[in-house]
Amino acid sequence: MQLGEHGERTLAVARVRQDRGIRDVPAQGPALELHRRDVHGHRHPRSGPIRAAPQRCLPAGDGPGGRKPRRPGGLHTPALGAIDFGGTKTAVAAVAADGRILRRARFETPPRPTPAQIVHRIAAAWSEVVEGLAAADRPAAAGLAAPGPADAPRWRDVPLAALTSAAIGVPVQLDNDVNACCLAEMRFGAAAGVQDFAWIQLSTGVGGGLVCAGRVYAGAAGLAGEVGHLVLEEDGPPCACGGRGCLQALVSGPAIARRYAERTGGAPGAAPAVFAAAADGDPAAEEVLQAVARDLGRGLALVVNLLNPALLVLGGGVMESLQARLPAVRAALRARVIGQANREVAVRRSAVGYDAALLGAAVLGTRSAGQP
Ligand SMILES: [Zn+2]
Repeated sequence: MQLGEHGERTLAVARVRQDRGIRDVPAQGPALELHRRDVHGHRHPRSGPIRAAPQRCLPAGDGPGGRKPRRPGGLHTPALGAIDFGGTKTAVAAVAADGRILRRARFETPPRPTPAQIVHRIAAAWSEVVEGLAAADRPAAAGLAAPGPADAPRWRDVPLAALTSAAIGVPVQLDNDVNACCLAEMRFGAAAGVQDFAWIQLSTGVGGGLVCAGRVYAGAAGLAGEVGHLVLEEDGPPCACGGRGCLQALVSGPAIARRYAERTGGAPGAAPAVFAAAADGDPAAEEVLQAVARDLGRGLALVVNLLNPALLVLGGGVMESLQARLPAVRAALRARVIGQANREVAVRRSAVGYDAALLGAAVLGTRSAGQP
């Protein structure tokens, strides 16, 4: 979860954890804005062009990181239904129990959609996905990953799960996208079998999710895991949240670009240019990236000292580029944590990638609707 780049902070759409039994939904809901970049990250730099309406089913594995189906259809158990309602695009998929995406459809999320618009588009995409499956394979339930409270559209008390369920004809379980990503990492990714871990995404912003004793920990209002807004420097650079010196303001993509511009006196560009400059031997770029790695380690140390996780899963486009500096991240982390166990915390890169929220939605769908 993260705040919008411009500091928008709106409370909760779909109030993911209080979705059941929610009250009326205006046919023309309030206009809303979506600001989610953490989960799919950096405005889809790896996504290529997003398929615009009209929706159409894409072959499985079409998206970056997608998986090729070995045998579409013909499963002995129904596929899992998955819906990822995102800030710029929404995806609907049928997912096999092993995480293969069998069929998917997606559409661009309108800039200021009403609940009715979104539900209508989801239902159309769902039909396209389901119609391509053998009857025995059609999902009997679906999970829906939606922006979390910090990133949610300006909807209030919208029973998104109930509305979607009514529209697609199967039970729908809703959770926020970051929690869904944690579930995907637990079921299909780098955190398989791990009961205590933190999932941290570095891209345009810095988001995170927490899994404690095998359960996603959402906090009282779904705001837990805001790793990006741990403050490292009291008078540091301004952050999208309105504060200063947050981890996000130091290590996100825009922060890296800004730090390099400050270091060189140039105009801020984009983070990939800084990584490219470092690869070309630019000492200023390397200096900035080493400082970023240290700051990331400092931030992670706060998480580790607080939660004593067994594992940190790091993902996102910025993290991919930072892989070569992981030793510096680890060194800064280890220097600041207490206890040998904390010093030995495992650090792994995310293994679910671009489809994390969608795969997590599929896991969500396996939970009976109505279960807390
Ligand atoms: Zn902040």
